[in-house]
Amino acid sequence: MIVVIKPNSSKQQIDNLIDWIKAQNFEVHISEGKYQTILGLIGDTSRLDTELLEELDIVEAVKRITEPFKNANRKFHSEDSIIDINGVKIGSGNFALIAGPCSVESKEQICEVARRVKASGAGLLRGGAFKPRTSPYDFQGLKAEGIELLLEAKKETGMPIVTEIMNANHIPMFEEVDVIQVGARNMQNFELLKELGKTNKPILLKRGLANTLKELLMSAEYIMAGGNEQVILCERGIRTFETYTRNTLDLSAVPMLKQLTHLPVVVDPSHASGIASLVKPMAFAAAACGADGIMIEVHNNPACALCDGPQSLTPDLFEEVATGIFRIREAVKGL
Ligand code: PEP
Ligand code: MN
Repeated sequence: MIVVIKPNSSKQQIDNLIDWIKAQNFEVHISEGKYQTILGLIGDTSRLDTELLEELDIVEAVKRITEPFKNANRKFHSEDSIIDINGVKIGSGNFALIAGPCSVESKEQICEVARRVKASGAGLLRGGAFKPRTSPYDFQGLKAEGIELLLEAKKETGMPIVTEIMNANHIPMFEEVDVIQVGARNMQNFELLKELGKTNKPILLKRGLANTLKELLMSAEYIMAGGNEQVILCERGIRTFETYTRNTLDLSAVPMLKQLTHLPVVVDPSHASGIASLVKPMAFAAAACGADGIMIEVHNNPACALCDGPQSLTPDLFEEVATGIFRIREAVKGL
């Protein structure tokens, strides 16, 4: 439930109301805008008499929130959130390109890709150390060694790193990782989300293969409810009846999520399409529709990649795509 306070109400009046609400066993989220203060009541408000509140002198309106997500809700937090990843910002007009191989394979591979994508304007380096593979016989990632190699690439290039976690017991291994990714398959691994909520690391939360935006937001809520508000949402395509593409990129998720939440929204055209030649047009479309970041898989030798070669761009092609993305962002600015 949100309570909109009339402009010109005194601080004393607002404080009295907050004390009264707290005495009814609700938590209060206070959003102080330029012109208006909004109170978000957190707790079971179903038995609270809205008329009682509406009749108060300082109350302009009382609205019940039907969405069950509170921390992620734009109604409680009208300004866009900015996630600062060691100086690389995402959100509220700050845009970041995230690039790197599907999986970390060797020191040479990750360092070369890191150098090349950085030169093309990528702000963050991605690379999987723990890989969720459909077949148990496929390459599962270099695990702890993969994280070590990412850290070496970070040391060499200065790029913050993004890598996926699959097991809450691994959190200590991610101590020096800058952004922890929760992959599509773990979007509703609630125990993992709760543990990540206790960390202070930015989390890149990918949409599940067959999950609604509300479910994505509820998963973000799990992390935020634990005290970690640094969540970046990622649209990476959903499963539909279409089979030519690996998934179907739901670009309407970007403006829809931006209406619903203050959290930044990133698009991953690589996993969404599964086809390298589709990454450029889909990345351009993502840039045009207001994504706060774009994540692209890049491999120095896609034909020999241990994972997701067919959707990986060469560093040369990534340079071309990155240049186009920046031009599109300029072109749509202010439109
Ligand atoms: C990945 O980013 O490497 C990955 C496995 O993506 P997703 O979870 O979206 O399939
Ligand atoms: Mn991949």
